[in-house]
Amino acid sequence: MMQLIFHGGAREVGRSCIEIATGSRRLLLDCGLKLTEQDSEYPIGFSFVNDIDAVFISHAHLDHTGALPLLDHKGMDCPIFATKSTKAITRILLKDAFKIGRINHQHLGYEELDIREVLSCMSRVKVDTKGNLDGISYEYFDAGHIPGSASVFLNVDGTTFLYTGDINNSETRLQHAAETGFPEVDVLICESTYGDREHPDRMKTEEEFLDSVEAALKAGGSVMVPVFAVGRSQEILMVLARRKFTAPIYLDGMSIEVTNLVLDNPDEIKDAKSLSAALKRVKLVKSNADRMGAIRKQSIIVTTSGMLTGGPIMHYMKYLTNDPKNAILLTGYQAEYTNGRLLLEKGQVFIDGVKKNVKCKVRQFDFSAHAGMSQLKALVRAVKPKKVFFVHGEEPSVLKMHEWAEALGMESYAPGLGDVIDV
Ligand SMILES: [Zn+2]
Ligand SMILES: [Zn+2]
Repeated sequence: MMQLIFHGGAREVGRSCIEIATGSRRLLLDCGLKLTEQDSEYPIGFSFVNDIDAVFISHAHLDHTGALPLLDHKGMDCPIFATKSTKAITRILLKDAFKIGRINHQHLGYEELDIREVLSCMSRVKVDTKGNLDGISYEYFDAGHIPGSASVFLNVDGTTFLYTGDINNSETRLQHAAETGFPEVDVLICESTYGDREHPDRMKTEEEFLDSVEAALKAGGSVMVPVFAVGRSQEILMVLARRKFTAPIYLDGMSIEVTNLVLDNPDEIKDAKSLSAALKRVKLVKSNADRMGAIRKQSIIVTTSGMLTGGPIMHYMKYLTNDPKNAILLTGYQAEYTNGRLLLEKGQVFIDGVKKNVKCKVRQFDFSAHAGMSQLKALVRAVKPKKVFFVHGEEPSVLKMHEWAEALGMESYAPGLGDVIDV
């Protein structure tokens, strides 16, 4: 008997957590949380966790790692497999989530000690290197999504599983395209974030982004570039390095720590040399005085958070959104109920709890680190699994991929939250 249990990430983006249960063994693929407007939602259906044998983590994002401390607190005690960068970045993100939870008086259900225990249980995995745990063999493949990200291949009692994690099989400045030379796969568990839509051409996006920076500077304004700390901030620095600008580039917030850490593990990105060179051209903001310095003159400011929900960008927006010469260039998707979404839909943002009208220019660019619909389909076709499960997508995306796979005659599933399916 072998079953897949969908504790989270089923017809939703967030709290990715899938269990492979064999009767004698329990293995988890990721263990994330879902950030909602006021709170965090955790994977469901975990009454007893002491007998979990192993967790395989695909990458550091909180929607794949954020529930680890909670399960630790409930008594989970097993090896947690992750790449070197994933472990290092997870450390930063878990600590930050804990700090923010405390500030917002959330009931997290775990202590700081649990984060330390999770990190001490983390066992390092190298990509393209086979490992073994009590007869289960596993192998990680570069997933091209963020530094350290991987797809997880498992052979459990003769049944082979491939869990894509978040995957990008197109090349970016920062990451190689995902590796796709997998062994034969019985069961494919495939992300579907962009299962119902395509990305615009990447080179065109880069050019338009750089043109927008240049136009704002030429008009005498400054440019704010809100970024996610992991992946996106490094990618944006490398894109900006392609042109010479008259104004200095500042890097602020958690992006600084993460960029240094990414450079500490140069094997897990495509071109550490270029990132390092790009970083040398940048002024690092280390104090409030630096920050005010950047605000007073024409500048390009790259900082967290990517959806304008906190971080130093809040400070910059306070001073720079009133001037129509300035610009905010969003670098990715803006989730519902975020300041970024409010900005796009209503031209307003909350700063220090007060809703403000934004007078500067606003544009959004798609620097996504996920495969688009055609790339996902190409991936599924190349893997040729016996069964495919679509996860990690809003319902329309998941269903679109599922219907496509069924029409091709594949045994396809679009599991719902809490579903238990025999494989
Ligand atoms: Zn991710
Ligand atoms: Zn994700």
